[in-house]
Amino acid sequence: MQLTIYNTMSRKLQPVTSDGNQVKMYCCGPTVYRDAHVGNLRTFLLSDLIRRTLQALGYEVVLVQNITDVGHMSEDLLAEDKMITQSRVEKIDPFEIARKYEASFHADLAQLNILPADIYPRASECISLMQDLISSLLLKGFAYVGSDGSIYFDAASFPGYGEISGNHLDSLKPGYRYEYSDDRGKRFHADWALWKLAGHRTEMVWDSPWGIGFPGWHIECSAMSLHFLRYHVNLHVGGMDLRFPHHENERAQSNAMTGSEVVDLWVHGEHLLFEGRKMSKSSSNVLLLAEVIGKGYDPLALRLVLLENRYRSQMDLTWDAISAAHKTLKRWRAFATQLHSAKRVENEEILKALSEDLDTPRAIQIIRTLEKNSDLAIEFRVGSMLFADQVLGLDLTREETRVLSSDLSDILEQRAKARGEKNWALSDRLREDLESKGLLIEDSQTGQEWRWR
Ligand code: AMP
Ligand code: ZN
Repeated sequence: MQLTIYNTMSRKLQPVTSDGNQVKMYCCGPTVYRDAHVGNLRTFLLSDLIRRTLQALGYEVVLVQNITDVGHMSEDLLAEDKMITQSRVEKIDPFEIARKYEASFHADLAQLNILPADIYPRASECISLMQDLISSLLLKGFAYVGSDGSIYFDAASFPGYGEISGNHLDSLKPGYRYEYSDDRGKRFHADWALWKLAGHRTEMVWDSPWGIGFPGWHIECSAMSLHFLRYHVNLHVGGMDLRFPHHENERAQSNAMTGSEVVDLWVHGEHLLFEGRKMSKSSSNVLLLAEVIGKGYDPLALRLVLLENRYRSQMDLTWDAISAAHKTLKRWRAFATQLHSAKRVENEEILKALSEDLDTPRAIQIIRTLEKNSDLAIEFRVGSMLFADQVLGLDLTREETRVLSSDLSDILEQRAKARGEKNWALSDRLREDLESKGLLIEDSQTGQEWRWR
């Protein structure tokens, strides 16, 4: 079986390519000037889902995800580096800002069971990679020195510009805000900065053959994917908003450098809304994972709600949906841990759903049916759930989160009472009942203790 997935560029479902048995993936990472919101996490979960599905299908996956800690300009009129703006707000060094939010990004991923990437290159530590790429683009005639001394990519020199997003150069009007920085020295409105001269800026700047300055945002992903994935990327992932201009620019830079199509498949996750509105900092509608946990929900309940929706549909997240997923998760864990020595059973139907453009809602529906269908062997039902869990990542074998149903706690109470009344016959009967329902009972001087079998 192969994973087939929607390629934004060809607008078709396509099988994921591999180099031998290895699939090389690149996923655009966070800009670390604030905590990632749950929308960002939806996109990071998409790359985890692809990776786990490929692994379940027998592939080896190498995943590179960049950490943008320089060069991403703010979207307001100040057009300042996001890291530097935030360092003023928090009154700490911009690099400290970057490390602080990078650490919370990793902590969020761990809470959501998102497997770590193989490499997390930081933009600020790949400056010479970017400079080498810019030098090559200048030599090859795809870039030029602008009238302000900064280096720009010449969009018109790359004939395929616009093929991912459909925004071809002839349809791009001057005045459209392609970039948020004030790129005054460029020749053509759709060109973009590869290296910006520092001007008055004194923080996060580096020496270069073109003067002291800092890299543009788009060059980062080209430099890193070309270097760390050796000039060929099987699959590239990001949120929908990155199609244009970010991925369009990345493709132009990378293909101009190699003279070949560097990325085989461009995959974009749809955006997350929250309680009906777009989730973004600019619309002040941001939900953080910490808030979900703060309300007492299991972080993996969020993972489950996100997976209940197909990655290609816009999804509206609500507190009700999180709460319902929390309950489902507890119930599934109780179900999956009822067998002492359950083994994974490869379930073709689940694997097929996942390999057909990551149909997680269907995979979850199959699990719901297995949960209910008592005609099937319990080993098959539980084993299939464990199999699905390698990809869904819901920790279904986690026992400590099993909650005691009210039935069981009633029986425990009745037994404690029976013991208090020295009614040993009743106490023994209730113990047998509890043990048949998965509990282990131990009596001590201080009373009865129980744990899951
Ligand atoms: P950023 O940290 O802003 O560079 O964004 C990191 C990732 O999150 C990118 O792939 C974005 O496309 C993605 N993203 C941003 N907003 C949302 C959203 N509301 N829903 C899903 N993904 C998003
Ligand atoms: Zn990127």
